[in-house]
Amino acid sequence: MKIVVLKFGGTSVGSIDKIKKVAQIIGNHKKKKFKVIVVSSAMSGVTNELVKKSREISGNFSNEEYDVLLSTGEQIACSLIAGRLNHIGFKSRSWLSWQIPIITTGLHKNSRINKINKKKIIRYLNEGGIPIITGFQGINKEERITTIGRGGSDASAIMLAKFFKAKKCIIYTDVEGVYTTDPRKLTKAKKIKVISYEEMLEMASLGAKVMQPVSIQDARLNRIDIEVKSSFINKPGTLITKRSNIFNHKIITGISSTQNDSKVSLIGVRDKPGIAASIFKPLSKNSINVDMVVQNISANGKETDLTFTIKTDDLNKTTKIIRANKSIKFRKLLLKKDVAKISIIGVGMVATPGVTFRMFQTLANEKINIQVISTSEIKISVLIDKKNIKKALAALHKEFKLDN
Ligand code: ADP
Ligand code: ASP
Ligand code: MG
Repeated sequence: MKIVVLKFGGTSVGSIDKIKKVAQIIGNHKKKKFKVIVVSSAMSGVTNELVKKSREISGNFSNEEYDVLLSTGEQIACSLIAGRLNHIGFKSRSWLSWQIPIITTGLHKNSRINKINKKKIIRYLNEGGIPIITGFQGINKEERITTIGRGGSDASAIMLAKFFKAKKCIIYTDVEGVYTTDPRKLTKAKKIKVISYEEMLEMASLGAKVMQPVSIQDARLNRIDIEVKSSFINKPGTLITKRSNIFNHKIITGISSTQNDSKVSLIGVRDKPGIAASIFKPLSKNSINVDMVVQNISANGKETDLTFTIKTDDLNKTTKIIRANKSIKFRKLLLKKDVAKISIIGVGMVATPGVTFRMFQTLANEKINIQVISTSEIKISVLIDKKNIKKALAALHKEFKLDN
């Protein structure tokens, strides 16, 4: 049985006209004798609206209710897609995750799919039906609705492809594929034909919203090839696959950037074992994600400065926690909003010396100051002022020959 999983993102189902177009795409796959499983996200903007409502109703809205609320957007989109498919003559129905069920583990708001019951869907496929399944959600063993992290429909699609052993998994979105950098931030960005899981995972984790990072991890673990393409224009997209399938002579494959980061510096912290742990433990307890961290070598052996970055949304909470933390002493707390992280990514840098230098020199030529640096085998990230992001992107894109 040749199964194909098709996933449609928020903008692809963002209006009635777009849903009509999506139904045509689905119908075309079905006519090619595929058994088609569809996953949809909520219509664009809907999930954000729901988040807003949860904040308006209570400053302390529980994670359990957050999941119930946020999962509703997908129900609307799926029912509209199924309704349109019926209208144009296809057998189709919507499935909410709990009806299948899709079982998740882990905490609310950030669960992971670990099992999908196939029986009902297989029967429906064999009857010629097209199931339209809600992405982004499942139920846990207490039979409570869960969600799997923002942008999570990508991971729903990958896990469906895994459990149903799909021949193909296509992610339909509002751009033509994965680009060298966000095409909305740099018009010179180029579509990448093939990219490895490792590079895509770094690009996604470092800010390329086009794919959710968890979904790439799941795809890599299960060796599922992903095709990312546009739901508006019928053109070849990007293939995300294993490294050995790729021949690429570029040193850098792509550039990602973040927005809405803030920098927190504790000046004059007592330099003794356990101090970093006592700063970060209460932050992690409060689900605050700490990103880049640097600690300066202490000049006098007694004091040090510690800098880290967080999302600006968490800045107020973070400062409150630090000021209330009796187990740490420091002379000054410096806060800086409006910083951003820019990262160059590529397996090519493993075998090429001098990439770090070229990145720093390029930024220096643009008079852009580097505030924090972090590296791994296939990426280099730097923190800069947010106002310089566009300039930095353009300069690095050119330096590493991604413009052509
Ligand atoms: P969907 O609603 O289909 O899930 P998303 O908004 O989550 O779509 O992701 C698509 C968006 O990702 C694009 O509109 C684009 O602005 C952004 N993006 C960021 N980085 C990249 C990149 N490197 N390549 C393509 N798109 C990117
Ligand atoms: N609708 C969800 C969100 O906005 C899931 C998704 O888009 O994949 O996060
Ligand atoms: Mg998305």
